[in-house]
Amino acid sequence: MAYQYRCDDCGTTAEPVHSRVALRAVRGRHRQLAHHGLRPDGEHIETVGVRQRLSWRTGCGFAVLAWIAVLDWIIRHL
Ligand SMILES: [Zn+2]
Repeated sequence: MAYQYRCDDCGTTAEPVHSRVALRAVRGRHRQLAHHGLRPDGEHIETVGVRQRLSWRTGCGFAVLAWIAVLDWIIRHL
């Protein structure tokens, strides 16, 4: 799971980070650079990464199915 900082006031989204410490650093840097250290009203944190994990699992499932199909073909034709 990863966290993504988003500021609707600026319309910007930071790159995903994988820890809350890194998230606080990104948030603090954005507040300092874009809002002079103040907290913008439109900032929020989005949780990302669940979809990537599902895609990884789905990819492994397809790899296993492809491997089984290859083995089946080899067994039938040799
Ligand atoms: Zn901002």
